[in-house]
Amino acid sequence: MRITFNGAAQVVTGSCHLVEADGVRFLLDCGLFQGSEELEELNPKFTFDPSEIDFVILSHGHLDHCGRLPYLVKKGFRGKIYATSGTIDISRLILMDAAQVQEEQLKTVNRKRLREGKKPRELLYTLDDVFDTFNHFKPCDYHRWYRVGSVRFRFLDAGHILCSETVELEVEGKRVVFSGDIGNRGKPLIRDPEIPEKADVVIMETTYANRKHRSFKESVEEFKEAVLSTFKRGGVVLIPTFALERAQDILYILKQMFERGELPPCKVFLDSPLAISITKTFRRHPECLEDRVLKELERRGDIFNFPYLEFTRRVEDSKKINEYRGRAIIIAGNGMCTGGRILHHLKHRAWDERNSIIFVGYQAEGTIGRQIVDGAKKVKIFNETVAVKLKVYTINGFSSHADQPQLLDWVKRAAGRDSKVILVHGEKPVIGKFLPLVKREVGAKVFAPELYSEIEL
Ligand SMILES: [Zn+2]
Repeated sequence: MRITFNGAAQVVTGSCHLVEADGVRFLLDCGLFQGSEELEELNPKFTFDPSEIDFVILSHGHLDHCGRLPYLVKKGFRGKIYATSGTIDISRLILMDAAQVQEEQLKTVNRKRLREGKKPRELLYTLDDVFDTFNHFKPCDYHRWYRVGSVRFRFLDAGHILCSETVELEVEGKRVVFSGDIGNRGKPLIRDPEIPEKADVVIMETTYANRKHRSFKESVEEFKEAVLSTFKRGGVVLIPTFALERAQDILYILKQMFERGELPPCKVFLDSPLAISITKTFRRHPECLEDRVLKELERRGDIFNFPYLEFTRRVEDSKKINEYRGRAIIIAGNGMCTGGRILHHLKHRAWDERNSIIFVGYQAEGTIGRQIVDGAKKVKIFNETVAVKLKVYTINGFSSHADQPQLLDWVKRAAGRDSKVILVHGEKPVIGKFLPLVKREVGAKVFAPELYSEIEL
């Protein structure tokens, strides 16, 4: 068996691993590189011919795991893409959005590249390629074994986002586990990660293998205090958030607070068309929800609706929020303030010290979100300088990824002394620190492959 790492090796994004065994060639994920121009330039590069790939196993609907599927199809892939039906639903929404965003941004990106003397970038794929990709999806259930040629596989719940998967495989008589992204325990809507049986080869993610998260419960308390003190000042709360999972977690937490009478009545705007569509997807996949939430869904028919919630899909409705003067919480994308409707809200509200912004997710370097977290007094939004006087809160415990103690516990149970553990989906320094820990705690042989390198097993 040979594995070639076409992404997420010594970096977090671009998850795509080619497995060749017993005359079969398949991919684990086919995700997009994101975060910097250097990484994005790698997106058209594969070490293989897409027309020679037999099938793909997809671990979940985040863009860095599914975002190159339409490019694979455009370049001649003809096989099936296996995933849970929830992952397929989410990937559809995420890929349509990605194609539109790429098309919108390409002109600006290329204007900048031409000025810098660089070659213009080609569109990776169009909406038509995305629609072609939909024909390749093949829905699977959790826990059921599937066979394609000589390979058998089944999905466990990875507990990362709705319907995400950890994959157990049998290849050439060996048990192989691909972790996908491993979830953070104690999240409000979905189940905790399932741990696979001990395997010969374990490919595992390491995004936060250098961190310890604050618990979800403590973070919820912190969040509540931030909202209440903003209301005391007569201000409005802005929450920049990703459309998938975090937005729904926040909605559900707010609903619970209203039900317990912990928050005064106030408007909650979900101001992101993609987040609204994904919120509806949650109702269509009760099989992926935590038991307690599932019972609630069966009893009430819904888990997100509360009297003060308003979905604003149309641009006109989003603009009207600017004039709203009452108590309000505005949830809008995108999560790092690099684009999307949150920028309009910041422009209208950041200068007013009564307001607050609550960051509930990671802020990458160079983003407006990071500038605000780092204490910038002014930011540039749509070429206009905006004073940042609103109160800034950063809450770190809402992560969808397991932290170091959880990852160590996971690998201790999934791998043994005779296993081979391959660390992927993490930054180089993070993997560098985690590798000796795994060696010591598990006693296994541990690898940290470079991008485009291969391992023979
Ligand atoms: Zn993910």
